[in-house]
Amino acid sequence: MIKGFIFDLDGTVYLSDNLIPGVKELVNGLKQNDYRMVYLSNKPLQRRSTYAKKLTELGITTPEDQVVNSSYVMANHISKVAPGARVYVIGEEPLIEELEEVGLRISEDPERIDYVIASFDRDFHYDKLQIAYEAIMNGASFVATNPDRTCPVEGGEVPDAAGMIGAIEGVTGKRVEKIAGKPSKLMVKAALDRLEVKPEECLMVGDRLETDIKMGNDSGIKTALVLSGVSDLKGLKESSVKPTYVLEDLSRLPEKINLKISE
Ligand SMILES: [Mg+2]
Repeated sequence: MIKGFIFDLDGTVYLSDNLIPGVKELVNGLKQNDYRMVYLSNKPLQRRSTYAKKLTELGITTPEDQVVNSSYVMANHISKVAPGARVYVIGEEPLIEELEEVGLRISEDPERIDYVIASFDRDFHYDKLQIAYEAIMNGASFVATNPDRTCPVEGGEVPDAAGMIGAIEGVTGKRVEKIAGKPSKLMVKAALDRLEVKPEECLMVGDRLETDIKMGNDSGIKTALVLSGVSDLKGLKESSVKPTYVLEDLSRLPEKINLKISE
């Protein structure tokens, strides 16, 4: 029996600043019936509180603790395995704040950097690549917040963290060692810890096969692909990653999985 839901945000719950029709009613109904839920985003451009505020303003009251994103998971992972480590960040201010908050130290000195963190950086620059290159050649670990190639925005897509990861891999000849975001195990663990349910009591709903659906499948979590975001039936047919269910959009969930939601 399903007790908890993991929802992706972009393309699943909302598109840009608009909720997908029917999602507010569904989520509020789930809440009233004591189902647990957590929202997962790979996007490292904002803090969890910003996503919680956005959901709340859209009509789905959400505490910060119900949101997990890749920068939060990255910061917590490093602070656990290497407390107080010196990190160099190719990323934006909210990620830097997140890292500082858990006691990690920001450094630009390649001789002293323990971790190079590649992320979504709209201010990426040759000088940053130079520091990352020297630090990694000096033995720093090379990690990244999320593996996404692009990020969907209104009217198209923009380059995401994969561009920065690729640049560093290209010049160092080394592969990124760990990625925090979906489909990583770190992200699944953060979600399940919050839900306090077993994987088999959980459903992962998302619009991307290679992140959302792969992550669920890899962890024994049932999956539902929604067609309201980046995936279509053609892409699904061509992919080796297959979801348990396919939904036109999230509002169709109850009929698909036979979920009883009482008013
Ligand atoms: Mg998505």
